[in-house]
Amino acid sequence: MSTTNANLIVISGPSGVGKGTICTALREKNKEIALSISATTRKPRTTDVDGVTYFFKSEDEFKEMIENDQFLEWAVYNGQYYGTPLAPVLEQLKNGTDVLLEIDVQGALHVMEKYPEGIFIFIVPPTTAALRERLIGRGTETDEEINRRIAAAEEELNQKDKYDYIVINHVVDDAVDEILHIIQNHKK
Ligand code: 5GP
Repeated sequence: MSTTNANLIVISGPSGVGKGTICTALREKNKEIALSISATTRKPRTTDVDGVTYFFKSEDEFKEMIENDQFLEWAVYNGQYYGTPLAPVLEQLKNGTDVLLEIDVQGALHVMEKYPEGIFIFIVPPTTAALRERLIGRGTETDEEINRRIAAAEEELNQKDKYDYIVINHVVDDAVDEILHIIQNHKK
């Protein structure tokens, strides 16, 4: 897919594990890495900005993008569609820019098939209790939604051995440094 030595870095792991926080902190430390902006059919949260956190789409719009082969990968998570638009990823890799994807486990498994030379990093919580606390703490999901996400997390954790690296999100800063180290090692 790419002709340069730019890396496609896939950060994945259960919802609530802190992937978003890690990716934001990672980009603050290394501004040369581009963050892929996903498309989704889920409703925006108060913290979301269209075109910045996601491209918010109707189900029809999303399905049209699928039919037109506009996604590197897409998945249905919790009844909503999420997908990585292909064109910007290809463009950035072609320009020699590393691209970071923050996606769910199903999506990451698809990318492993399509782009095995990617760097696949699985983020795990220190404990399941920590995951539940984080989901409750961010206050953006209902109790029912939290329970669904915990159930999904247990399934997702079973896939962790398929990844190149497993990083424990105990302290965000440490997790970020570990990931930057992994990326750096791939440059050698
Ligand atoms: P949230 O609704 O909390 O923003 O995201 C729910 C889940 O979807 C998270 O695990 C997030 O990483 C994942 N996700 C976000 N964008 C994408 C994407 O483009 N593709 C896939 N497969 N998952 C995504």
